[in-house]
This record gives sequence, C-alpha cells and structure tokens, in this order.
Amino acid sequence: MVTFLSGGTGTPKLLAGADAVFDPAETTVVGNTGDDVVLGGHLVCPDVDTVLFHDGGVLDRETWWGIDDDTAETHEELRRLADEADLGSGPRFLPPERQTEGREIGRWRRFSGVAEFMHIGDRDRAVHVTRTSLLDEGQSLTEATRVLADAFGLERSLLPMSDEPVATLIHTPDGLQHFQEWWVGRGGEPTVEDVEFRGADDAATTDAVDAALDDPVVIGPSNPVTSIGPMLAVPGFEAALRETTVVAVSPFVGDEVFSGPAADLMAALGREPSTAGVADSYPFADAFVLDEADPTELDRPVVRTDTAIDGDDDSERVARAVAEALEVAG
Ligand code: GDP
Repeated sequence: MVTFLSGGTGTPKLLAGADAVFDPAETTVVGNTGDDVVLGGHLVCPDVDTVLFHDGGVLDRETWWGIDDDTAETHEELRRLADEADLGSGPRFLPPERQTEGREIGRWRRFSGVAEFMHIGDRDRAVHVTRTSLLDEGQSLTEATRVLADAFGLERSLLPMSDEPVATLIHTPDGLQHFQEWWVGRGGEPTVEDVEFRGADDAATTDAVDAALDDPVVIGPSNPVTSIGPMLAVPGFEAALRETTVVAVSPFVGDEVFSGPAADLMAALGREPSTAGVADSYPFADAFVLDEADPTELDRPVVRTDTAIDGDDDSERVARAVAEALEVAG
C-alpha cells in the first residue's frame, strides 16, 4: 500500500498515468481540504473533487477542475440575477459573526452564493448538493467522500485530510481573504502578508488518515504552502510523516515553478521559492524526485527524471522515479 498527499493539480497529474506503477487498488489519496468553501450553503472540496472526477473518468483535463462538457445554467443564472439586482460580481465572504454559526464544517470558509464567484457546473453542483446533504444526514466528510467515490467507481481510496474545518486564510493589506477569494476572486494579486490555517489547532486526523500515514507516503508535486501546509498544520500529521518513509516530487525546477502561486506564497512566508525551499519545508522527507535540469543539491537522496507532466506517459515516467525513490528511501 502507498499513500499520496494531494492538492488539486500536481498529484492528480502524477496519478493520472501511474496505474502500471502504483496499483489503484493499493493506493490511498489524502486530499487537502484547506481550500474548501461553503458556497451558497454547499460544501465544495476542490482538491478532493479533482481526484474524484479524474478517477471517475469525467474530469475536465483542460482545466484540471470540474466535469468535462458540463453545462453551467445554474451558475449563469446566479450571475444574471446578481447583475439584475445590482449585487456586483465579486466574492461575498460572509461577515465574521456568520462564519461561526451553523454547520461546523463551514467555519471561516462561508461565502454567499450571490453572483457565485467560483464557476460551478451543473453536474459538478450535484456532487456538492449530495455531499452537503450526506453531512446533514449525519455522515462525516470521510463517509460522504466514500459514498461519492463509490458512485464514481473509484478504485483508489480517497480521504479528506480531516473531518473538521481547516480554512486557508490569506492576510493581505486589503484585509483577510479566504484562499479562494484571494486566488479565484482576486487572481492572486493582493500582497500576501501571512497565511493562516484557521481551525487546524482544533482539528484532528481521522482514523482512516492515521492508517494511511502508516504506509509509505508520496507527496506529489504540490504547493507546499496551500496544499500540504494545511495537512502539516493538523496536530499529529507531521509526527506521523516522521515515522514513515516519505518521498516528495518538487513542483519546481531549481527556482522555476511549473505553475500557480507556490513561489509567491513561499516567498511571503520567508521560504526560498525553489526546490531547496521545498526540501526545507519537508524536513521529514527521506528522498526527493527532481527534474534532471534542476541544479539543486540536497542533503537527502535524489532520483532525477524529466518531471514535466503533460500526459499519461509523463505520469508513468515520474511515477517510476517515485517508486525508485521509495526504494532508496525505505
Ligand atoms: P493546487 O492546484 O493549487 O491545489 O495545486 P497543487 O498543490 O496540486 O499543485 C500545484 C503545484 O504543482 C505547483 O506548484 C506547480 O509548480 C506543480 N506542477 C504543476 N504541473 C507540474 C508538472 O508537470 N510537473 C511538476 N513537477 N510540477 C508541476
């Protein structure tokens, strides 16, 4: 058995063509939930859903989120209504007193559905309605995720990192912004003063995650701040990683990031935005997979390959390097 820690892009891309190397039936994916939001009352789990949709064979592989060829009639009507009613188009994070009332899992991640600042397709929305309704019926997020995984026919087991709310909040000169407001709503433009994982101190790993962290762990190419950071902030998570074999794939080639806001976020937290900074962020990692053009020298074993993943052949090549790194590290 092997466990992958996943955000919404890098690890799903790595897993996409990795079946010949890591048997899906022997693989667990722990998904980041720090990016989750409650939007118009429905819990949306972007990182978990990318894996759900990918493994269910319906992912839009142009964007790496949402369902391929989904319609968006409800979303478009929400935009139209807000426009007609002069309610604007921006994210509408609810006021502080509304963040902590109602369903616990929505704490510090609640947005009004007015104008729906995130694009939610119609079939995609059915997943969020089902998930939220299962929570209403008394299931945990882990249980609700299992129900959805079964409905999509997943072979891999898919786990949220916690059943409790951990909200990734970005402190900016414009005020506090949930990660999704900062990234989707404001294009990652506001200056990052600090990143906070609100709720993490009071959150816990689940029994399923604890069991998964007993197996060798792979951190696919991920944003160390907003995809892996929320996991490490949950008490006991990092301690479990220190006890098992961990291999990480760099999301950088030297100081060049493949995509997304990882470099800016790392720099804002005083970390070097590079492979070296990623290695510093993962003191528990036993080995790394780096690009063959990456000049970084590390104090831990390294397996090199071309780490650009643009298709299933690339996934398989990087997955083979990961398997080799697990051998070296274990
Ligand atoms: P999210 O989409 O914000 O949840 O992002 P993830 O944490 O899943 O992953 C984003 C990271 O993956 C970014 O820092 C990218 O640099 C990295 N990434 C994206 N594509 C590739 C690729 O083809 N190869 C490698 N090595 N890293 C990649």
